[in-house]
Amino acid sequence: MPLLVMKFGGTSVADLSRIENAAKKVQAEVARGYDVIVIVSAMSGETNRMVGYVEGTSKLYDAREYDAVVSSGENVTAGLMALRLQEMDIPARSWQGWQVPINTTSAHGSARFIDIPRANIDAKFAEGFKVAVVAGFQGISAEGRITTLGRGGSDTTAVAFAAAFGAERCDIYTDVDGIYTTDPRISSKARKLEKIAFEEMLELASLGAKVLQTRSVELAMRYKVRLRVLSSFEDTDENSGTLVCDEDEIMESKVVSGVAYSRDEAKMTLVTVEDRPGVASAIFGPLADAGVNVDMIVQNISEKNYGNHSGAVTDMTFSVPVNQVARAQKAMEEARAAGSIMYDELISDTDVAKVSVVGIGMRSQVGVAAKMFKALAAENINIKVIATSEIKISVLIDRRYMELAVQALHDCFELDKA
Ligand code: ADP
Ligand code: ASP
Ligand code: MG
Repeated sequence: MPLLVMKFGGTSVADLSRIENAAKKVQAEVARGYDVIVIVSAMSGETNRMVGYVEGTSKLYDAREYDAVVSSGENVTAGLMALRLQEMDIPARSWQGWQVPINTTSAHGSARFIDIPRANIDAKFAEGFKVAVVAGFQGISAEGRITTLGRGGSDTTAVAFAAAFGAERCDIYTDVDGIYTTDPRISSKARKLEKIAFEEMLELASLGAKVLQTRSVELAMRYKVRLRVLSSFEDTDENSGTLVCDEDEIMESKVVSGVAYSRDEAKMTLVTVEDRPGVASAIFGPLADAGVNVDMIVQNISEKNYGNHSGAVTDMTFSVPVNQVARAQKAMEEARAAGSIMYDELISDTDVAKVSVVGIGMRSQVGVAAKMFKALAAENINIKVIATSEIKISVLIDRRYMELAVQALHDCFELDKA
């Protein structure tokens, strides 16, 4: 029997009528002859509510208990979806992560899949069940504890099931009708893409476009899963939405395909650190040990000795997610107290955002960065940090200019035009 994976995000299962609406989409695929694995998120807002409960109970919470609490929203929607399908005379059964079992690492809050044995779900399909409804976002560790995959993780659950069960396609139903050149909530000129290359989507996701969790794109790319994003609120057919696929399936190729942003960034600068071998490792080692996700890094070159420093000194600037600033500060202060690094001052700027342009066409095109900087300059937007790779350019700017920068870049690369 051909098999499909259909994933419904939080807004698509936000109440009983939306669950019914989603169930009708599942019913249509069953009628076309598919067995279906449905992956559900928690009702929108539920995961945030539970994160709030945990943080309100314990400041330095135990990550195992955090996972036990925040994974629960998906259990509710999985059961409700199975019930709704049964009401429609479709044989359906719900599965929590441990029942499958979805085996993951024990990295609570950011666990990774180890394997998803098929036997239990296959046995149910063999009994005549048509739909397995699986709670997204969660798994079980070797220690037998419930784990979660990081925010937005149900996308990754969906792709992992599509890979494990050899699904014909993995359809991600959400509150937009596809992947756009930028977040349609930020720019009314955003244009829906027919197709996007895995590599581009991977960059866009990791640079902040939350329409797909980064890890889900990575998995789809590795296991060659046909991945599609489409609307749960509109009528859809096999041509709806945006297909994420291999580069060579895409005819139209623009230099820049999309603009992504990440609102909650912070810039930290260690002022006057020694300029000597090993200093970067003495800084970023403790940050990594403290679980801080450092993104952009700039080290200024200094040729001079100055002040009361005996050797050459430099400034080191890096960006981190804004909610990790306190942790980063603590790690740096401890490293200074232990004598492994020296610095005069640690300056944290918590009002910055990152805006990035992405496109595989950049590989063969010069002048993209210059064009980007010119467009930002024309809007009087000051660039604080720049980072580039083969297919992306990112800048850190004042957060209040973020929307303006996204729109300016969208215009300058004419992304509204096909
Ligand atoms: P779900 O709850 O279904 O998982 P998410 O909120 O996680 O949905 O992701 C969908 C949202 O992603 C959209 O509402 C949109 O605002 C946002 N988004 C950001 N960048 C893009 C983009 N390039 N294309 C489409 N949506 C985007
Ligand atoms: N419910 C989880 C979250 O809000 C997982 C998901 O929706 O993908 O992050
Ligand atoms: Mg999501």
